[in-house]
Amino acid sequence: MGQEIKRTDVNELGEFGLIRHLTSKFPIKNASTKKGIGDDAAVIDNGDKLTVISTDTLVEGIHFDMVYTPLKHLGYKAVVVNLSDIYAMNAKPRQITVSIALSNRYSVEALEELYDGIRTACEWYGVDLIGGDTTSSPKGLYISVTAIGQGEKDKLVYRDGANVGDILCCTGNFGSAYLGLQILEREKQLYLDNPKIKPDLEDAQYMIERQLKPEARKDFVEQFFPKAGLVPTSMIDVSDGLASELFHICTSSGVGAILEENGVSIHPKAEELAIKFNLDPITCALSGGEDYELLFTVKPEDLEKVRYMPDIYLCGEIIPAEEGVKLHTKGGNIHPLQAQGWQHFQS
Ligand code: ADP
Ligand code: MG
Repeated sequence: MGQEIKRTDVNELGEFGLIRHLTSKFPIKNASTKKGIGDDAAVIDNGDKLTVISTDTLVEGIHFDMVYTPLKHLGYKAVVVNLSDIYAMNAKPRQITVSIALSNRYSVEALEELYDGIRTACEWYGVDLIGGDTTSSPKGLYISVTAIGQGEKDKLVYRDGANVGDILCCTGNFGSAYLGLQILEREKQLYLDNPKIKPDLEDAQYMIERQLKPEARKDFVEQFFPKAGLVPTSMIDVSDGLASELFHICTSSGVGAILEENGVSIHPKAEELAIKFNLDPITCALSGGEDYELLFTVKPEDLEKVRYMPDIYLCGEIIPAEEGVKLHTKGGNIHPLQAQGWQHFQS
């Protein structure tokens, strides 16, 4: 009998465990590498300015379904999800590279559509497409975008800067993109069962748009923060779900938090749809993901700077690590927050 070869399933480690496991033996060698793995983007010190870099890959069948994803939207989203990570560092995106791997199912016309979406995002967010790679895949489409941004030395914001007493803030509303996905999946099933049925999506327009064509919070990083003279103490973008991102801030900063359910905004249409689907609206908001809003903390003395910002919600406070990460419900109960996020391999 030969010796058994050890085989560990990647799901045993989970996404973050796997990243840690694979990258723990890569010490930083260059002084210019200011931040490596473990934040929304890596940071490189170029003297006067800091360069910020982030990569994300979207895979057909995992991150998008061609049955209901227009290629133009897909191109737009592939760019936006990366820019969101640059904004989460309080930096401005400047360039992107785009790499695609495609099967022979994709025509030139289809790829033109994809690039139409990429171009629209480049125009709106003011970034240049500066390179990439094109290759073939045995099955499906892969699109990997790297975003490069620029930040100022004293203004970059990491996940690890939250302090006890800081105010927790978030932009926009939560849960809509997740509910958009639920409705698209249900309509797909109905369509597959009976292709003659016309989808009834009128009431769900907002949620579907949040799922298929998300936006990154350029307005906060490029307008509201500088105008108010505000530099948050920590920040993250909400790709995996508000609860799971709050845990990232708390773990990195070595603090706890109390999240106010009252401060988590849910679009009225999303709330309606959640109830129609028999889902708990606040669970959708906390664990849904793909909102691409910003979650950040500010010093208590900066309260006046955030109080009147548009589309901002004060949603809690940073507390000592020993007190944990908790949710204060609308009903007045306080219980430990569950970080569900995407357990399976998605991001
Ligand atoms: P986000 O959700 O903000 O896009 P991720 O959770 O994808 O961030 O990644 C967390 C950190 O791990 C980032 O610093 C990212 O660059 C790094 N990372 C992810 N996958 C790998 C990998 N395969 N090898 C090296 N670093 C990785
Ligand atoms: Mg991120």
